[in-house]
Amino acid sequence: MSGYIYMHRSEKGKIVAGYVPWDDAKIHVLSHVIHYSSGVFEGIRGYVTDRGVAIFRGRDHYRRLVRSAKIYRMFPEDYAPKEIFRNGKVYMEDLVSYFMDLTKELIRKNDLYRRAKEVKEEDKMANPFVYIRPVVYRGYDVTEDPILKPPLGVNPLNNPVEWFIATFLWDDYLGTMAIEQGADVITSAWAKNAPSTTPFMAKGASNYATGQLAKMESVLSAMFKTPDIAKRVKEGGSVKADDLYLPVESVQLTVSGHVAEGTGENIFVVMYEDGDPGKATIYTPPLSASILPGITRDSVIRIAKDLGYPVIETMIPREMLYIADEVFFTGTAAEVTPIRSVDGIPVGEGKPGPVTLRIREQYTGIARGQIEDPYGWVEYV
Ligand code: PMP
Repeated sequence: MSGYIYMHRSEKGKIVAGYVPWDDAKIHVLSHVIHYSSGVFEGIRGYVTDRGVAIFRGRDHYRRLVRSAKIYRMFPEDYAPKEIFRNGKVYMEDLVSYFMDLTKELIRKNDLYRRAKEVKEEDKMANPFVYIRPVVYRGYDVTEDPILKPPLGVNPLNNPVEWFIATFLWDDYLGTMAIEQGADVITSAWAKNAPSTTPFMAKGASNYATGQLAKMESVLSAMFKTPDIAKRVKEGGSVKADDLYLPVESVQLTVSGHVAEGTGENIFVVMYEDGDPGKATIYTPPLSASILPGITRDSVIRIAKDLGYPVIETMIPREMLYIADEVFFTGTAAEVTPIRSVDGIPVGEGKPGPVTLRIREQYTGIARGQIEDPYGWVEYV
């Protein structure tokens, strides 16, 4: 893909910042982040609407980015451009506005609105959207001979704080089928890191070590649809594509075995009272369950409450996923994706349920600018 990436780096003690052609956006192999995961990032979505690209809660994402960096002692004064300093300080809202303006410029510069329409018309993507990926990280910069003065050790404090913003087009994250029919998921044996290991309120690269192992576990594990197919194959029968289903995601548990979240999504469980979806209660794990404080999670909690559903943040045992009436994922990329089976056990009727669909309709309607946005979540480019 052609286009530009905005980079803010340190070279020989000087800040070098600006748009860099896509293929030239490189960092040194001895950058601290490559060795010690000292990076934090965001994933922000821009919807391709009739009114342009609608950035969904961009400011909240950038606030989370600045906070994630702070947790790792990367302070705004370490990486903000000089022009936004006031009295030697950087104010959060100034930095957030600066990032938002830059993001809008980058989307325009890369012509993503037109290109999204083009790939859709050419049938190259089902539902293209603009994805925005800012990363703040510990880089590499030496002014002396690096062979005599090693530029690298666990201590990150001697490495410059650098950042970049990339934007590109992405398609339905868990696959179009998962959105339409519900995702098949498994629970992974790779638990989320315990609270005192890596900080979960930071969207830090280190949190994704177990996530990527869990993700591979799910996407590489085909499962037999029924026990008799398994028996037939064990007895030497051949396997047909139709005998299998393919999980698209893992649910990770906490170290104590409670439900945490997907590898890139938060999770919600819906329980009906007396079998009546009109009397549903919605459950989701609390922040103390080693989860990312998802912005879609927060949006869905607000929407669900405004639709009249009680929402309870509480620890959820794994088996509650098996007996729930509905389960769904939330995330910037996944939006609101229904889950139709967990570990091969159908969730409810094994298809997207009415509560999930109602919340999804409201969420995507607001995000796509199709229904009025009462929360002020959308900003157009
Ligand atoms: N959990 C994890 C581990 C994630 O990577 C994401 C995606 N950012 C989420 C939850 C959902 O967060 P958000 O709604 O802010 O995208």
